[in-house]
Amino acid sequence: MYEVVIGVEVHAQLRTKSKMFCGCSTAFGRSPNSQTCPVCLGLPGSLPVINKAAVEMAVRAGLALNCSIGAHNRFARKNYFYPDLPKGYQISQYEAPVCEHGWMEIAVGGTTKRVRIRRAHLEEDAGKNLHVTSSGRSLVDLNRAGTPLLEIVTEPDMRSADEAVAYLKNLRDILMYLEVCDGNMEEGSFRCEPNLSLRPAGQQELGVKVELKNINSFKFVKDALEHEIKRQTEVLTEGGCVKQETRLWNLDRGETAVMRSKEEAHDYRYFPDPDLVPLKLEREWVDASRAELPELPVVRTRRFLEEYGLPDYDAGVLTATRDVGEYFEASVKLFPQPKTVSNWVMGELTRELNNTGTAIGASPVSPERLATLLRMVEQGTVSLKVARDIFPEMYRTGKAPEQIVQEKGLTQVSDEGALSQVIDDVLAKNPAQVAQFKQGKQQVLGFLVGQVMKSSGGKANPGKVNELLKHKLG
Ligand SMILES: [Zn+2]
Repeated sequence: MYEVVIGVEVHAQLRTKSKMFCGCSTAFGRSPNSQTCPVCLGLPGSLPVINKAAVEMAVRAGLALNCSIGAHNRFARKNYFYPDLPKGYQISQYEAPVCEHGWMEIAVGGTTKRVRIRRAHLEEDAGKNLHVTSSGRSLVDLNRAGTPLLEIVTEPDMRSADEAVAYLKNLRDILMYLEVCDGNMEEGSFRCEPNLSLRPAGQQELGVKVELKNINSFKFVKDALEHEIKRQTEVLTEGGCVKQETRLWNLDRGETAVMRSKEEAHDYRYFPDPDLVPLKLEREWVDASRAELPELPVVRTRRFLEEYGLPDYDAGVLTATRDVGEYFEASVKLFPQPKTVSNWVMGELTRELNNTGTAIGASPVSPERLATLLRMVEQGTVSLKVARDIFPEMYRTGKAPEQIVQEKGLTQVSDEGALSQVIDDVLAKNPAQVAQFKQGKQQVLGFLVGQVMKSSGGKANPGKVNELLKHKLG
């Protein structure tokens, strides 16, 4: 029996407007090499300047991950040669990273465990090589060169693919809540590189480690790890040795394949970057950052369960992103019926947002408007059916619910005189059902209520209709 040992490295792109050491834009998807300057092109004589926003974001992330923040941290050159790295080195951090010795709690299968964070350091990204198979040429795009990254490294504390995925999901949620990373895995803003080894159960010493790359979804993290666990178990069971290497996840084949072995691994010859002064972080400044941290996802989910008495499912959905939670709470403040608000946010609102590809922060229906609509239902001004019908129009036109109701004459009818007339018509048109009811067939009442609601265009107050019908039939 072998024990699985997993550690994870993540490269998270920080959401700064400009690059790590120059003023070039970090916007994604622009025409190649349009966002470059002498600094990120590595031209002689150019000098880097540290991006303050990137340091702030790294500190926020570190604090949220319970790290200690290095008062003195330093940038180092990591030397290697590759066409997408114009300087011939990457500016990273080595001996004195900005964050160290943190931890995060993950919950898998009903138990909670702590994953230790070894370090989180700032570095710049490399450019991108594009291999054009038709022409046999390779092109280099340096728009990404110099983009700020936070590399977050765990201790080998995870024992299954599920734990690794739980850690990664949690980490991505935290970084998105902190607004330091957009979490877009397809665009490479959140890159996962798990490493894995096996050891005989009970053995302290770690086995030989394999690193996995080229994984851009949580599903692939799980698939790749499970494939690798199976492959290494087979190698060891047959008496073989696992080689220390980096393997790529091949999506089409559903397996991992060797990218490079340890013999080819780089010796990066790190040394302090002489162009950059050591970075000193004032304690007061770090404490101020700590005080400004937002509520984190796990804490918020727990609070939604306790404070609003929501079911687990609702609490999970409503805290999936920071903006959904904020929309929900703003609405509940105005209409204090949490479960009703939750149903509308998860139902009607989410449907419209998905249909139009809109983020909840930009919803044309504000929490105020939603609360007004729900209050109108509560007060009997409109029926629930009418409220559901007009919601898409509120969303499409940005109009207030009162205005739509007034324009369309949709106010709920509770007036006995008006309802009485509609009911009399319905009874006259359905003599057979009336007779059945009088013979004791109670279910027919539902049919008659339905008919009245229909003839009133959904505007009749159903409670009133029930009451009046019973009275007239009895
Ligand atoms: Zn630049």
